[in-house]
Amino acid sequence: MTKFASVRLVLFLILAVFPPLVSRSWAQQGEKMSVLLIDGQNNHNWKATTPLIKQTLEGTGRFDVDVATSPGTGESMDSFSPDFSKYDVVVSNYNGKPWSEATQKAFEQFVAGGGGFVSVHAADNSFPKWSAYNRMIGVGGWGGRSEKDGPYVRWKEDRKQFTRDLTPGRGGTHGKRVPFLVVVRDVEHPITAGLPAAFMQTADELYGKLRGPAENMHVLATGFSAPATGGTGEHEPLLMTVQFGDGRVFHTTLGHDDAAMKGIAFQVTLQRGTEWAATGTVKQPAVEGQLLTNETPAMRDPADVKPDEFAAMPDIMSKGWVTLFNGKDLGGWSQKNGTATYRVESGMIVGKTAQGSPNSFMCTTRDYGNFELTFEVNDDSGLNSGVQIRSLSKADFNNGRVHGPQIEIESAPGESGYIYSEGTGRGWITKQQPVKDAYQNGKWNRFVVRANGDRIQTWVNGKAIADILDVESSKKGFIGLQVHGIKRDTGPFEVRWRDIRVRDLN
Ligand code: ZN
Repeated sequence: MTKFASVRLVLFLILAVFPPLVSRSWAQQGEKMSVLLIDGQNNHNWKATTPLIKQTLEGTGRFDVDVATSPGTGESMDSFSPDFSKYDVVVSNYNGKPWSEATQKAFEQFVAGGGGFVSVHAADNSFPKWSAYNRMIGVGGWGGRSEKDGPYVRWKEDRKQFTRDLTPGRGGTHGKRVPFLVVVRDVEHPITAGLPAAFMQTADELYGKLRGPAENMHVLATGFSAPATGGTGEHEPLLMTVQFGDGRVFHTTLGHDDAAMKGIAFQVTLQRGTEWAATGTVKQPAVEGQLLTNETPAMRDPADVKPDEFAAMPDIMSKGWVTLFNGKDLGGWSQKNGTATYRVESGMIVGKTAQGSPNSFMCTTRDYGNFELTFEVNDDSGLNSGVQIRSLSKADFNNGRVHGPQIEIESAPGESGYIYSEGTGRGWITKQQPVKDAYQNGKWNRFVVRANGDRIQTWVNGKAIADILDVESSKKGFIGLQVHGIKRDTGPFEVRWRDIRVRDLN
């Protein structure tokens, strides 16, 4: 072990015993992220847009948003000193006079110390002379910005890469407000993973010619600024991340006015970008293609979105859970379909494949409608398995073939946690499947499922995997543990379940 490695090991051990002080509230399961939204001066209509930003974030059920409104134009800014340190992330809808030196310093310390920051549209016009702020936003516009402030950063389609252009010229322009395509340039970043590769934003200002230090800046998506509507003819950056010290910045140039903020493209990227700035991850579920398309701009009034009380993973330690498996025998369960064997061993149900058998299912003798379900599973690699929910077996349907939604269990990388329509020929119910690595091979894996009305959500080892509306399937049925059929001359394989519990939502 090198000296450096040993220092790192000691540091790791210290951190393992004493969690760092910067550990924020979001780290605790189920707690909301706290947001400070700043407004008060803006050449845009902040009085109309601040409520939309607040509703867009709070509608996810994942954020609590406080608003800090600065003194008005022409008034002294001395009194404006929000306590940034109380928050996970600061969102700026502010484009106005410089803050006091003390407030600037406090904000720099907040972000550099690991706080999150989100710059919305004209917030990147603000503070042209505040060096640290310009490093936070990466690039900005207007306010006298020019080549002295840094390069233009554009995507060059012919070279398939970003370029930094130091040509002299002003910073900041936009053409007419028209709908445009947001093209994702990094499909793996947590903010954009699970979004369609390109999707329409409703009529909005497409900022062009932004320039700035662009240090530690990563462009997630661009938009083509069309000359026909007064644009630059360039693929301009629309969504960016910037690392500033230990802090994460998400910069969106979308959201000129209340109409633009009703675009779901603006809303979804703001929601995901704000979570990422706050936590470094995105637990919001993948966005289904029908919500964001590359043809028509999807619109939604955030005021119509009810706070999502079911956003967070169910708390499996709280009250109301009922054990489905007593750890001793298979009372309350019965086998359907194949001839795989199921035995009870050391508090586990162990399923073992049988040569020549179709898929087998160990099913609850009771039906469940709206419920939360949790279990742990450890699957031999090479064996595909799953847990049926709301499933049926009827003499008049395919000779009693078990069918219904199945929570997939599969070695990583794979589809664990996604939802398959077993026995119906319908295939995958979850179409978008961005997360393939939540399952840990050879270990116990905690699955959590919530089925309520048409909505089914899943988590694997705490990671949100699926969040779908399934209108077609039965809303009530048994829970079943699947042992998959196997190919000739393979196996035998085993799959083990334990701690199977359910909580009724009816
Ligand atoms: Zn604007």
